[in-house]
Amino acid sequence: MHRLAKLDHAHVWHPFTQMRDWLKREPLVISSGKGAVLRDVRGHEYLDANSSIWTNLHGHNHPKINKAISRQLNKISHSSALGFANEPASLLAEKLVKAANPKFRIQNSKLEKVFFSDDGSTAMEVALKLAYEFTRRIRGKKSRPEFLSLDGAYHGDTVGAVSLGHIDLFHKSFSGLLFKTGKVMSPYCYRCPFNRAKPERADAREYRKCNWECVGLVEEKFAVQKRKGNSYAAFVFEPLMQGSAGMIPQPDSWLRQVMDIARSHGALLIADEVMTGFGRVGQASSLSNERVSASIRLATLGAGRQDACPTLFASHHEGVQPDFLCLAKGMTGGYLPMAATLTTQKVFDAFLGEYGEFKTFFHGHSFTGNQLGASAALANLEILQSKKSIHARQNLETVLREELKTLWQLPNVGDVRQVGLVAGIELVKNWRTRELLALRERAGIRVCEAMARRGVLTRPIGNVIVLMPPYCTTTAQLQKMAAALREAVAEVF
Ligand code: PMP
Repeated sequence: MHRLAKLDHAHVWHPFTQMRDWLKREPLVISSGKGAVLRDVRGHEYLDANSSIWTNLHGHNHPKINKAISRQLNKISHSSALGFANEPASLLAEKLVKAANPKFRIQNSKLEKVFFSDDGSTAMEVALKLAYEFTRRIRGKKSRPEFLSLDGAYHGDTVGAVSLGHIDLFHKSFSGLLFKTGKVMSPYCYRCPFNRAKPERADAREYRKCNWECVGLVEEKFAVQKRKGNSYAAFVFEPLMQGSAGMIPQPDSWLRQVMDIARSHGALLIADEVMTGFGRVGQASSLSNERVSASIRLATLGAGRQDACPTLFASHHEGVQPDFLCLAKGMTGGYLPMAATLTTQKVFDAFLGEYGEFKTFFHGHSFTGNQLGASAALANLEILQSKKSIHARQNLETVLREELKTLWQLPNVGDVRQVGLVAGIELVKNWRTRELLALRERAGIRVCEAMARRGVLTRPIGNVIVLMPPYCTTTAQLQKMAAALREAVAEVF
C-alpha cells in the first residue's frame, strides 16, 4: 500500500463513509488535476465525473483562477471581516449582487446585501437565522417562526441545516438535537403516487399524467399552518433540481406555482442554490418549450438584451427572485471553501438600530470574507460570463443530452433525469415495475466502483448515479463518462 494511503488509513475519518469498508481497500490518493482529469499518486488518471462533489466548474488547475489566487497570495491571504473590509470581498459582493439581479427579474425583491461564510451549510444557517430573527421583529419577540421545506431535502450538516432536511437515513439519528420543520411533498414525477402514467423509456416529467396534486399539497400545507395561527415564516427549496434527494428535477412551472402560493401566505423564500447556482442547471436554450418561453418573456420585460450572459441562478429560470439566495460550492470555481447568503435591503434594515438596542446579527465565522476565496470567486465569475464559457456550457449540455439517451437501452435504468449540466440516473430492479433496489445491495456503489475501474470517478446517491461534468469537459471525455456508466451497469447487473 502506498505510504500516503497507509497514513490515511491510520488517521483520517472520511465524511459520509462506512469506515470499515473504507479500510478494506487501498484508497485513491489524488495528487494533481488538470481540466476534468484527476491524477493519483500512482500516476493513474481519472475523469472527475461529479466535479469533485459538485464543486468544480471550469476544471482543475485553471490558469486564470490560479493566477488570481497567487496574485492575492502575494498581497495577503486573510484578514478578519470582524472589524475590517478588504479588497476582493468588496469587489466580489458588488459582482454577486449584479449577477443575482438580472435585468429580467420579475418578482420585486432585489438582493442587495451579501453575508459571507464558509460553505453550503453555513450559507443556509445564515439564511435560516436571518429569516427567523427578521420574522420575530415583525411578529413580536414571543413568536416562534416555523419553516417549510421539501420531502427529501438536504441543506447541509450543521444542526440548523439538518433541521431543514428530510432524509431519514442522514437526519433521523440526530432528531433529538433538531427543531421541528414542516415537510411537503416534492415533485418526484418518477415515483409520484399521483402520476397515473405507466413507465416509459423517457424522463418521467415528459409523460406524467396528473393534476398537479403536489402543488395542491403545498397550498394545503400553508393553509393548515395558517389555521394554527403560525403561518410559515419561510419556504426553503432547491430550485429546478433537488440534489442529495436523488437528483429530483421539477417539472416546468412547479417552482413558479409553489412560490406564488408561498408569497400569497407571506412566507419568505430561501433558495438553496449551493448545487444549482453558477450555471449548473444550464441556460434558457436547453430548457423545455414552456421554460424557454417563460425565460424569453422575462428577458423582453426588462432591458434583457444587455444581459449577454444568461442568468447564473436556477430560481431565475422560473422568474422567481428569492429573499435569500444561498451560494457555495462552485462560487470559487470549486477551489476554496467560501459561501455567501444574499438578501434584501428590507431584511438588512430590520437589524439596524442603536448599539444598545442589540439588534446586531450576532453571527460570523473567523474566515468570513477570506481574500483568497474572494479572488478565486472573482476569477470564476469572469470566466463564467465569458462568451467562450457560455458557448462551451451550451455545447456540453447538448452532448450530455445525446449521451444520456443511450442509457434507456439498459433494463435496470428506470429514469434518466437531466437539468442543464446535472444528470441523475436511477437504477431499479426492473424498469417496467420501477421496483426499488435495496440499499443494502449497494448497487449504486458497485456501479461507481466499476466506473472507477474504467477511469471515471463519481459518487452515487443511493441507487442514483450522478453525472455532473466540469464545464471544461470535452465531448470525448463526456462520451467516455457515459460509456463507462453503460459498461458498469451491464457489468453489475
Ligand atoms: N445545500 C445543498 C443543495 C447541497 O448540495 C449541499 C452539499 N452537498 C449543501 C447545502 C451543504 O454544503 P456544504 O457541504 O458545503 O456544507
